[in-house]
Amino acid sequence: MSSHTGLFRLNSKYSHLVRRALLAFLFCHAFPVYADALSLTSDLTRVQLGPYVDYMEDPSGTLTIDQARAPSSRWLNSDQDILNFGYSASAYWLRVGLTQAEALPETYLLEIAYPVLDHVEVYIFENGAQVAYHSMGDQQPYFQRPIDHTHFLVPIALHPTVMTSVYLRVLSTSAVQVPLNLTQELTMVEINYNQGMIKALYYGAMLIMAVYNLLVFFSIRDVNYLYYVLVVVSIMTLLGGIQGLTFKYLWPNTTELNDSILIVALSSLVIFSALLFRRFLDTPNTRPVLDRVMLLIAILPLFTMATAFYLPYRPLVQTTIVLAVVGIVAGFWAAIVRWRDGFEAAKYLNLAWTFVLAGGIVFAFNKLGILPRNLFTENVMQLATGMQALLLSFALAYRMNSERDLREKAEQESTAAQKALLDQQIKANEDLDRLVQHRAAELQEANERLEALGATDSLTLLLNRRAFEDRFLVEYERAYRNQSSLAVLMVDLDHFKHINDSYGHLFGDVCLTHAAQAIKNSLSRASDVVARYGGEEFIVMLPDTDTQGAASIGQAILDALACMIVDDGQYTVTLTASIGVAAHIPRSTSDRETLLKEADQHLYLAKGNGRNRVEWQPGAPSL
Ligand code: GH3
Ligand code: MG
Ligand code: MG
Repeated sequence: MSSHTGLFRLNSKYSHLVRRALLAFLFCHAFPVYADALSLTSDLTRVQLGPYVDYMEDPSGTLTIDQARAPSSRWLNSDQDILNFGYSASAYWLRVGLTQAEALPETYLLEIAYPVLDHVEVYIFENGAQVAYHSMGDQQPYFQRPIDHTHFLVPIALHPTVMTSVYLRVLSTSAVQVPLNLTQELTMVEINYNQGMIKALYYGAMLIMAVYNLLVFFSIRDVNYLYYVLVVVSIMTLLGGIQGLTFKYLWPNTTELNDSILIVALSSLVIFSALLFRRFLDTPNTRPVLDRVMLLIAILPLFTMATAFYLPYRPLVQTTIVLAVVGIVAGFWAAIVRWRDGFEAAKYLNLAWTFVLAGGIVFAFNKLGILPRNLFTENVMQLATGMQALLLSFALAYRMNSERDLREKAEQESTAAQKALLDQQIKANEDLDRLVQHRAAELQEANERLEALGATDSLTLLLNRRAFEDRFLVEYERAYRNQSSLAVLMVDLDHFKHINDSYGHLFGDVCLTHAAQAIKNSLSRASDVVARYGGEEFIVMLPDTDTQGAASIGQAILDALACMIVDDGQYTVTLTASIGVAAHIPRSTSDRETLLKEADQHLYLAKGNGRNRVEWQPGAPSL
């Protein structure tokens, strides 16, 4: 697909002169009439032959070279730079006449720059005598070509005063395009070098993209990368097929592959592009309708791909091209929709597709003759697909990046949520602990209160009789062990019935409370115990105390009562009590009833002796 004839075209004025000169020459020599023949000069290094070519359609494809050369043949003048007969089952004959105005040292190369033509036959005549014949095409073994080149090249030697006529017969199931150039050998070397360089650069870059992304796929297992690799490989195969490279380098003898491979490559390009777009844009989860369209576009080319080797090439390739165009439009649409959804990475997909579309338009315009052939238009598909590969790769990286950002953010949020949950649990546990402790303390307190209630007299808050008896038992045994003296005082309020009767029972209760307090206040040691023993009767136990000490405590109690005035705001009384004291060092642990009985007897004695007094031994003088 190369020629730079835009630069080397004859200008029309010069061409016109040549044409007139040639016409005169031809009439004189009675050679076949050429509409345009080309007279070469040394400054014409490369010429696009289109304008100098006559052509003839052979619908049955049966004409021989002799029949084609017969004067009765109806040749038509070409008005195209590049002859393009479209898809046609006919054979096409082309002819061009070449002369040399002066003796030129250069060898020329005739180039048919369209590698996918099935059959190209070249006949060369010098002054009407055939001197060479070549048969080439992508349906003929590669090495049949006279020159090892992806384009069809034929060497042509020109001699002064010799009319060289070239006849071509072209037959192809592909579009019958015949870009015909005549180039000096040295110029061809330069062009080939540059073209080879561009191709090497392009295929090298694409190959590296494919291999690198395949490795990325193996390492991260994201199937997007596999689709990408298959897209790039499809593009390489497609362009390589169109440029005749796959034939030359991969299967020079397997001509059956040449046409079908283009359909397979274009189909797989559509399939994997659609799959890549689906996954990349996440249409299954975001845009169900769009997703079904993309899926359909991925599925339909399976048909053309599967039948590439069985169905006729022409309708199949046309169908595949239609699918590809629909696919490009749908891909564009999908990427724009997702971009508008706020999916940022879609814009790089758009950009990649813009390159393909723009490249396709330039390529088509160039084929239609709207845009000139030059270095740019000749290589525009390489440029476009190269940019596409680059941008798709970038889009994948961008997507991976933004996905990673999202994932990190989600992880952070999840970690924070977990931590919050943990904190909450810890706090709940702590609260529970505190509650349990609190409840336990409350329970203990309640138990203690219950216990205390059981041991306490509710009116005076002194120990009750039962509690006293427990304590008395303990202290008595201790006194026995220590052989220390234990004293007991029985305290009975005097004439209390009278108080009740005179002031009421409630006032009596008040008096009892006061008396209890007074007795308690009269005791100084921690080990001393006072309890309510009965109605208005109290009992005091004094460990480590002998009779004398206990008697003085009894007196202290009487003094305290004497000093105390019970006043409830209505009545005022002073209380007295009678106290019986007993003390001894226990001789056995079972003696304690004796001590109590003794104290009671002394109390009785105190009552008998006139009350408000302490008694500690029968008949002893009171204090
Ligand atoms: P004595 O000097 O001989 O001890 O005369 P007394 O009236 O104190 O003796 P007695 O045993 O005959 O009467 C005791 C009275 O104490 C009878 C009862 O009314 C009163 N009493 C007993 N327990 C309570 C009580 O809890 N509250 C009140 N207000 N009075 C009580
Ligand atoms: Mg009494
Ligand atoms: Mg009494």
